[in-house]
Amino acid sequence: YMGAEALPRKNSHGIELTDPLSAAPLLKELERQEGKHFLGGPIVNGIMGEAEEPVYNPATGEKIGHTANTDKHLIEQAYTCASEAQIDWDRQGGMHRADILDRIADLYEEKTNELTAIICIEAGRTLNDGISEVREAIDFCRYYANAARQHFSEPTELPGPTGEQNQLFLGGRGTFVCISPWNFPLAIFTGQVVAALAAGNAVLAKPAEQTPIIAAHAVRLMLDAGVPPKVLHLITGTGAAVGQLLIENPRLGGVAFTGSTETARLINQQLATKEGPIVPLIAETGGQNVMVVDSTALPEQVVDDVIQSAFLSAGQRCSALRILCVQDVIADNLLNMLKGACEELTLGNPRKLDTDIGPVIDEKALSILEAHREHMAKEAKPLFAFDEAKKPGKGTFFGPQVVEIEDFSLLKREVFGPFLHVVRFKADELEDIIRRINATGYGLTFGLHSRIEGRAHAVFKRINVGNCYVNRDMVGAVVGVNPFGGHGLSGTGPKAGGPHYLFRFASEKTKTVNL
Ligand code: GLU
Repeated sequence: YMGAEALPRKNSHGIELTDPLSAAPLLKELERQEGKHFLGGPIVNGIMGEAEEPVYNPATGEKIGHTANTDKHLIEQAYTCASEAQIDWDRQGGMHRADILDRIADLYEEKTNELTAIICIEAGRTLNDGISEVREAIDFCRYYANAARQHFSEPTELPGPTGEQNQLFLGGRGTFVCISPWNFPLAIFTGQVVAALAAGNAVLAKPAEQTPIIAAHAVRLMLDAGVPPKVLHLITGTGAAVGQLLIENPRLGGVAFTGSTETARLINQQLATKEGPIVPLIAETGGQNVMVVDSTALPEQVVDDVIQSAFLSAGQRCSALRILCVQDVIADNLLNMLKGACEELTLGNPRKLDTDIGPVIDEKALSILEAHREHMAKEAKPLFAFDEAKKPGKGTFFGPQVVEIEDFSLLKREVFGPFLHVVRFKADELEDIIRRINATGYGLTFGLHSRIEGRAHAVFKRINVGNCYVNRDMVGAVVGVNPFGGHGLSGTGPKAGGPHYLFRFASEKTKTVNL
């Protein structure tokens, strides 16, 4: 088997913010976008529906536009159009669809400044995060385009007895519902949608209710690039308002979901009892991600990688580091250095170039984090608490926190934000730590810092995660380089940006002809 990398492709470059000449146009665009009032309502058959629900900038609390809970009739209309149009879309073949995906990538590239600015305004992501996200979205398009060219244009010839021809065809499954989160409102939204499209499906895309505006922008660019308006529809709204209508429809062909473990379970339950075909769920959910640092690790590098892994994107990545396990003999020194590094972190409006940590997404996220901080004040030893006096006056900001806990069984669920928990371990406890990590049931990312030859290999064999990172940070998986996704409570094991991802969106047909 040859991966999609058999065809030439390069990941995109993005903008270098340290270069004033590259940063200037982005900052100008940001100002232009900040003056706007955005509409991010549903888009069915290429037409945007009404939008009356407010959307806020989490860094300022200001209203920046409107969205809507898509109504039942519009969802029904989207399903009807999608299921009709999907048949032709599938027949047109992988080459045709790949060309359209490449055009989407080109348009995204042209609009990098605009897309980055909107991500920053709507999702509170720093400019650097926004830039990386646009790059990732572009890379998903080009990567899946190549995969479609390779696997969805010609059938695979199979052996058989003399006089019999056997071929395997890949095609779409019908209409896919793609449900994406607010933490990567462009990259994950785009990755799911273009994968489903590339495999020959029609798509009803449901972005997170917090980030409909960037999703509406993305859909417009996809339509401009040549995706037929009957094939791709944007269904905005809350999970409560539109989720069930999308899932229980008998014409549903499959679901791609990225979000919480609880919601994935709920979708699974609804799928089990709905009318119509039995359809797959492709789920990428949370993690309880651990980094283990042994006594041979390089402390300066560890501190850098911990800061990056725990606090990048305000810790709002499912890949983010939640529990740092440090060998006792180096712990005091390392934690001191870590504390020093935390003191340098800047919390602020993500539009500013010197901001390290932006806001969390909304009031609900903030109150969950505040409740966790209160809980930890009773159960844990404080190592670093952000100075509340330095917190911006407006917006949903949560200052980074580091606490030491006795055992990570204290943490029952994922804490989605800049909150790091530290556990000390003794040299002979490594085996046990790995066993306990596996016992959490989550299996997304894992980090190891060690210079003992052979340890990485041995730990990798035993640790039950989707992405294992050694002697580096554990966030920011790159398309085609670090295929990303986990198993167990962390999902059904899709590898976004990996060579097998598209197959999960496909149906297979074998043709046997007696010549
Ligand atoms: N792929 C992202 C990373 O490696 C995380 C995606 C997510 O948070 O859902 O950091």
